[in-house]
Amino acid sequence: MPSIWRRFFNQIDQQLALAHAALVPERPAVLIFMFHVLFEDEAAMTRQLVDPQQHITTQIFAEFIAYYQTHGYTFVTPAEVLRGLNPAGRFVLITFDDGYYNNHLALPILRRFGVPATFFISTHHVQANHAFWWDVVYRERLRQPLSAAAQQAEYALLKGMRHEEVDEYLLTHFGPDALRPVSDLDRPFTPDELQAFAREPEVVLGNHTAHHAVLTNYQPTAAQQELAECQQYLAHLTGSEPVAVAYPNGNYSPAVVAAAAHVGLQLGATVEAGKNYLPLPPTSSLQLKRFLLWGDQDVQAQCALFRTDFHLKQLLRPARA
Ligand SMILES: [Zn+2]
Repeated sequence: MPSIWRRFFNQIDQQLALAHAALVPERPAVLIFMFHVLFEDEAAMTRQLVDPQQHITTQIFAEFIAYYQTHGYTFVTPAEVLRGLNPAGRFVLITFDDGYYNNHLALPILRRFGVPATFFISTHHVQANHAFWWDVVYRERLRQPLSAAAQQAEYALLKGMRHEEVDEYLLTHFGPDALRPVSDLDRPFTPDELQAFAREPEVVLGNHTAHHAVLTNYQPTAAQQELAECQQYLAHLTGSEPVAVAYPNGNYSPAVVAAAAHVGLQLGATVEAGKNYLPLPPTSSLQLKRFLLWGDQDVQAQCALFRTDFHLKQLLRPARA
């Protein structure tokens, strides 16, 4: 579809969804949101030390929580989801992926609103103080730009690799210091910082594999090893094993879900957008949907759209066998 028609179609879809929401009661659900980097303010974003990704500042994060609190949502932890939520209720589960030190900026906001959040940690990055590959690529490509197509191909290539291959690619292309973070903005937590952070009552830690492993690139036993190594390190640091996992890059398969269950994980977050309707079917708990909020778009409008239960696109999508 040409982009002008796609925009037109999306606008119609959004207007219909909002009109539907105004007329029909919202269906009970748990809405899961994923965040990555958290910026102190707009100025921090312009320093170009880290891939801005969703452009989320502390102010936008606070605005997001305030929206759902004002609209009667209850904020929950993975353990509360697993114990079973009121099937007539409306819930939000906040998640942060990767283990960035900048995520500590969420804590005063979580305290102010009295809500919890779950932080999915790639533990090898914490142990080794390694930068995340997409930040390395972001910084290096600001210096040595590629065409849009070549840049897209580079990201696709890296997402298709196992972690040893990713590290080798970065070292070969960007030099021996490539894996080293350049600032407090792009670095992961240190083990001591993460241990202290995990003691905060608002903070729950979750599994994001040892090496930010895109698990569908691995043999089942190696995928299980990535998940197990992360479980063990977080248990060593905090005294208890996580119950939740976010699959890096959202990639999962029946083998990945089985590996997660095998190491004791009970709740799994993908990157497929959508509401998780209540009551949760037991088979869905390791394949939950998550929304992405964009800081460079209207936050209130996005929050309203995430709540809607009607989508023209779904109505028009051909049925799959
Ligand atoms: Zn991640």
